[in-house]
Amino acid sequence: MPELLSVVVPLYNEELVIHEMYSQLTSVLEGAQLNYEIVMVNDGSSDKTLPMAKDICAGDKRVKLVSFSRNFGHQIAITAGMDRASGDAIVFIDADLQDPPEVILEMIEKWKEGNKVVYGVRKKREGESFFKLFTAKVFYRVLRQLTSISIPVDTGDFRLIDRCVVDQLKRMTERSRFVRGMVSWVGFKQCKVEYVRHERFAGETKYPLKKMIKFALDGILSFSHIPLKLSSAFGLLSAGLSFIFMLYGVLMRIFFPGQVVPGWSSLFVAVLFLGGIQLVCVGILGEYLGRIHEEIKGRPIYIAEEEVNFD
Ligand code: UDP
Ligand code: MG
Repeated sequence: MPELLSVVVPLYNEELVIHEMYSQLTSVLEGAQLNYEIVMVNDGSSDKTLPMAKDICAGDKRVKLVSFSRNFGHQIAITAGMDRASGDAIVFIDADLQDPPEVILEMIEKWKEGNKVVYGVRKKREGESFFKLFTAKVFYRVLRQLTSISIPVDTGDFRLIDRCVVDQLKRMTERSRFVRGMVSWVGFKQCKVEYVRHERFAGETKYPLKKMIKFALDGILSFSHIPLKLSSAFGLLSAGLSFIFMLYGVLMRIFFPGQVVPGWSSLFVAVLFLGGIQLVCVGILGEYLGRIHEEIKGRPIYIAEEEVNFD
C-alpha cells in the first residue's frame, strides 16, 4: 500500500492566496506516487480565509481543516497541523507559495532514500526586503554560535519529517515553540534540498517586526543558556574595569593630592555603566523567567474551535 503524505499549511489572513495554493499543491501532489492529505490550519484569520477553506474542504475530502479560536502564531499552527496529521511523513509549507510546492517531490525522493528529515535550504530569496534578508542572515548565524545543537542556517520550516520524528516532536510540549530547532534537536538522519524562495504570491507578510523579534528570542532562549551566562561576563568585565579605575584613583590621591578633582565625571560614568549592565542582565533574566512562567501555567498550547473532515 502506498504511503500517506500529510501536508500541513498554516493560514493567517490568506484569502488572496488560498485558492492558488490549493490548486498548485494538489497538482503537484497528484503527480507524486502516494496518497496524500492536506491539513490546513486557520490561525484565527479575520478575513475570508475560514469560509474559503471550508468550501475547499466541502469539495475535497482529502483536505482537512483545524480552525483556532484566535491567532496563536505560525509555530503553534504548524504544531496543531502536525498533531492531527496521520501521514507516514509530514511536510510543512507556507500558504503564500514562497516555498515552491514542486520541491516536495524532491523531498519525497530523499525521504524514500531513508532520510528522516529533509529540510529546505533557501539558496536565494526573491522579493524580500533588504531588512528581512539581513536580519534573517544575522539571526541564523548568531543562533548557530549560541546553541550546542546544529540548527542549519537559512532553513525555514519548509521540510518533510518522517513519522518517527513526528512521534518524538509530539512528546515535546513546550509553549515557546521554535519548530525548526526542535526538529534538529530530535536528531535522526537529516538531509537538505536547496531551493529558490520566491516572492509572496499575493498579500503581505504576516510576520511583522514584533512577531519576528518574539520568534527570534524564542529560538535563542529555548536552545541556549549563553545569554544567562552573559551576565557573569558583563559582571567580570565591569569588575575588571572598576578595579583599574580604583587603582587610578588611589594612586592619584597618593601622588598628586592637589590635582584630584571632585570626581564627578568618573562617578557619573561608573553609575551609568553599572546601571546599564544591571538592567541588561535583569532583562535577560526576565526573558527566561517569562517563558518559565508560561510553561508553569500549563495551559493548552492552542484552542481549536472547529475541525472539518477529520473522521
Ligand atoms: N502565519 C500563521 N500565523 C501567524 C503568522 C503567519 O499561521 O500569526 C502563516 C501564514 O499564513 C503563512 C506562514 O505562516 O502561511 C508564513 O507567514 P508569512 O509568509 O507571512 O511569513 P514570511 O514568509 O513573510 O516570513
Ligand atoms: Mg511568506
